[in-house]
Parts: sequence; C-alpha cells; structure tokens
Amino acid sequence: MEATVTASPRGEERIRNGHLWIYRTDIANSNAAAGDVVRVVAQGGRFLARALFSDQSQITLRVVTQRDVPVDKEFWRARLNQALSFRASLGIDATAYRLVHGEGDLIPSFVVDRYGDYLVVQALSQATDRLLPDFTALLVEMANPLGILARNDPRVRLLEGLEQKVDLLHGVVPDTIGVREGKIEYDIDPYHGQKTGAFLDQRENRQAAARYVSGRVLDCFSYAGGFALQLAPRASELTALDISEDATAALARNAERNHLRNISARTTNVFDELRALEKIGEKYDVIVLDPPAFAKSKAAIPKALSGYKEINLRALKLLNPGGFLITCSCSYHVNEASFAEVIFDAALDARTEVSVVEKRMQGRDHPVVLGMPETYYLKCFILRKLA
Ligand code: SAH
Repeated sequence: MEATVTASPRGEERIRNGHLWIYRTDIANSNAAAGDVVRVVAQGGRFLARALFSDQSQITLRVVTQRDVPVDKEFWRARLNQALSFRASLGIDATAYRLVHGEGDLIPSFVVDRYGDYLVVQALSQATDRLLPDFTALLVEMANPLGILARNDPRVRLLEGLEQKVDLLHGVVPDTIGVREGKIEYDIDPYHGQKTGAFLDQRENRQAAARYVSGRVLDCFSYAGGFALQLAPRASELTALDISEDATAALARNAERNHLRNISARTTNVFDELRALEKIGEKYDVIVLDPPAFAKSKAAIPKALSGYKEINLRALKLLNPGGFLITCSCSYHVNEASFAEVIFDAALDARTEVSVVEKRMQGRDHPVVLGMPETYYLKCFILRKLA
C-alpha cells in the first residue's frame, strides 16, 4: 500500500499555489515512513500531489507532481531527461556546469554537477538518499560518465537525520579533474572542494563581468579563481583575496596553468584588507565581491546586512569613477530588494552615485522556481560608479 499524507487546508493551499515545500505544521495526518514517496491528499481524501516525505526535517513534503501518476523509475527517467536536455540546449561553453538543480528541475533535494567526464551528486533528503541507486543507474545510462561521486557531506543532511559522507557510486573519480570554462582551464577537487568542487552558479556572471574589465581589478572572496581567471586576460593587473590558504594556492596553480602572469593571490581577511587598501590610497577599475552566504538563517539577517554594507561601502570607495562593482549575495534569506537597499545605503555613505548596469542571478543551469523565493538565492548586480 502506498503511504498517504493528509495535508491541512493551509498545506493544500500551499500546494495549489505551486510551492514545493510543505512544512510539518501543515500536515494533518500521515502513515508514511522516512524517505517514502507518498500520496498527498486533502482532508476528505481528494488527491493533491505525490511528494518526497521526511520524518525529520521541518520540510516534511517536497512535491514532485500534482498529477496522479506513478512516481517510478520511468517517471524519474523522464525528469532527468528533461533536466539534461535543457542543459544541452543552452549552448554552454564549458565542461563544468549543473545538470540537475533540485527543486529547479522538479527533482527536489537532488543535485548533479558535471565536471568533464565525471558527475558529482548530492542527495539532500531522506527520499533522494534512498533513491540514489536508481538515480545512479539512470545517470550512467543517460550521461555515460567515467565515474560518479556522491558529495553527501553538506550539513543540511543532518536536518534529515542522514550522515555526512562521501561515496564513490560508479566507476572511478580522480582527486583532481581538469575542466574548461570558456577559454580558461582549471582544476577542481571533487572530494574536498567547496560545494561539489566549484561555484558553478556564478559561471554566467563571470562571463558577463568580463565584458566590463579593463585596468586594475580586485577580486574579493576569490576561492580558486572563478572570477579572477575569467577577468585577468582583460586586466592590466588583478589582485585576488581569500581567507583560505588552500584556495589561494589553488588559484595560483590555476593562474600558472592558464599563463596568466598578471594575477597575484593573497591569503587575507577581506574585511581587514579593504580597509588597509583604502588607507594606503589604492584605486581599482573593477572590483568583485562574491562573499559566502552571510545569512545562513533568518536570525542572522541583521548581522549579514551590516556585513554586506561594510564590504560594498569599502569597495565603492576603492573604485575609480567610471569603474565597475560586481557585487553578489548568495544568502536566500536576503532577498533582491533588501540587497539592493543595502548597496544603496553603502553608496550614500560612500557619497557616490551609482548606476545599475545589470541585475543578474544564478546561472540558467540553476533554475529558479517561479513562486518559490527560496530557490532564488544568488543575486549579482553589476554597478557603475558615476562619480
Ligand atoms: N568567487 C568564487 C567563489 C567564492 S566562495 C568563485 O567564483 O569561484 C567564498 C569564498 O570566500 C571562499 O573561498 C572562502 O574561503 C572565502 N572567505 C570567507 N570569508 C572570508 C573573509 N572574511 N575574507 C576572505 N575570504 C573569505
């Protein structure tokens, strides 16, 4: 017998409004077990949806379809196929990009990144964890990778009562994988790198940013050089800053590999460094701010906003008139409007006029679900300092 979960009237309304997450408080009744794919009904028994069930997370249901169809291997094959064909249609000029982006591909809490001939996946809920053998078989059949690695070490797995671990699911996966992004080549470490190895969600923003580059560039929170490597070919010189020694070492190797001799990478705290650079009167033509998520929870929002304001204020002061600021936030708790407001505040404090050249978001391989603000997490503004 298929497990059934009864949604409360509020849960029902959420599903009807196209939201994919139903919280524990909006569940009336359930006979489901951890990780089941369940039938969701309204009070009275009418079919509402099929969903992934979690007996631990506050997100109890993740809707996969509002149609009354079986959610079996064929269903998942079609979903994966849709996700893969969409990526194939995008004309992506890179060998590293996201193939499956969870909710954004209606495969909630499941991520697949492609790095050349290899796939790195993440199962972030009880149900996708249980479905992993099926997903692996389907991905082998559809993408024919040399290896599939599960980077199931993100902390969110703890909210599901799942352990944090890294498993080889298929074939072999080497310690470093060389990938290409446009004309740049770089190495990623699928076992230990951040996220699944790289920040693929910024790929299109890096290409967009490169169009505005000339003169002196400062790349803050550079990691292994996502922005730096794309921008350096058009810069006279580029300074990259990151607090992690591993990151700046990887950046230096990547710069060498691409014969980019105008990059210098420094291991330092950006907050301190921006002040220091201002003090000695440094000026730049382009500055990138791509910090980690400052707001990891709602409670952290006020502190996050002051952090964003601080770095944007300092950066605007360090920019030459006519220069460009590429400023990002990947905290989904800070929405686009509040992020824009913080930058505006920073501009007022810096006594500078700023125009908006581009408002961007996460790359198209990380789709946002309309009506589900949680899926629009990465904001990227390209601004120009007028005076
Ligand atoms: N721009 C990168 C991704 C940046 S991720 C790309 O496109 O690939 C955020 C980075 O900020 C991480 O590498 C982390 O080590 C670094 N970081 C976090 N706090 C920092 C701080 N206070 N000062 C400098 N770097 C910091």
